[in-house]
Amino acid sequence: MNGSGLRLTFLGTGAGYPTPGRNVTGLAVERGRRLFLLDCGEGTVRALQAAGVPFGRVRAVLFSHFHADHCLGLPGLLQTFQLMGRERRLDIYGPPGVQEFVRRAVSLAPFSPSFCTIAHELGPGEESTLGDLGVTCAWMDHTAPVLGYRIQEPDKPGALDAERARALGVTHGPAMGRLKAGEAVAAADGATVTPQMVVGPPRLGRSLVFSSDTRPNPGLTALAEGADALVHDATFTDEHADRAAETGHSTAAQAALTARDAGVEQLWLWHFSQRYRDPGEHLAQARAIFPPSEASYDGLKITPGQPS
Ligand SMILES: [Zn+2]
Ligand SMILES: [Zn+2]
Repeated sequence: MNGSGLRLTFLGTGAGYPTPGRNVTGLAVERGRRLFLLDCGEGTVRALQAAGVPFGRVRAVLFSHFHADHCLGLPGLLQTFQLMGRERRLDIYGPPGVQEFVRRAVSLAPFSPSFCTIAHELGPGEESTLGDLGVTCAWMDHTAPVLGYRIQEPDKPGALDAERARALGVTHGPAMGRLKAGEAVAAADGATVTPQMVVGPPRLGRSLVFSSDTRPNPGLTALAEGADALVHDATFTDEHADRAAETGHSTAAQAALTARDAGVEQLWLWHFSQRYRDPGEHLAQARAIFPPSEASYDGLKITPGQPS
């Protein structure tokens, strides 16, 4: 990998409580040398190590909500960083309540942390950034206030056709660079060469959407529009659709309907109830509606926008 892509590692793909087969919630998003966590369930530090993710690089943690299976890993993460002698600040984002949650997590340690933690409250319509990644969020529909997140790479400039530029009389490197940056330049014979003549269309950045715990809802469909990868609550199968509605979750089929309506490239089913031995039934029910559906598992790594 060239370091510039967006890479996702599933750290925990089960609901409710950890089992030997599936840890509770956590996803690691890598962008070059920067690492971000989406939720941080119990056992996240161990899951990061098991997946070979260099966890000292964590810059920020984004919480969807504060149900135990999504957030109990924070005190352990903070204390591990303390033992490692971390100095770099840690940014923590989440819905209202995030400041209080972080204050409590920090106060559990028997020492003052060697690094600073900054809690940022987020809400729909606010845009933030993680390095050069854009972050937007929307309210989901659960039994507590939940934020779903969209992580978006910036678009890249189009490719320069250097051969064509040379044929038009642009011969030196700096002029090529200016064309790529969108400026017109003068050719050797004085003629003007514009970017439109030699630079292809911009290449769209990749995007990842994380629903966290939710029933189907129009805010999520809008958030996920055209995304390369959608990681969606698929706690239940059709057999337990009433439980999904009652507990504020989705069935795999509901996740597939949202993926189809939003026009995403690929759906990753996630947050399976520990009552199921395996997600075969979830997968079959989702694929009947949206064929590019996959079942996630702990340790799985994907690059949104590339075939899995
Ligand atoms: Zn959950
Ligand atoms: Zn929840």
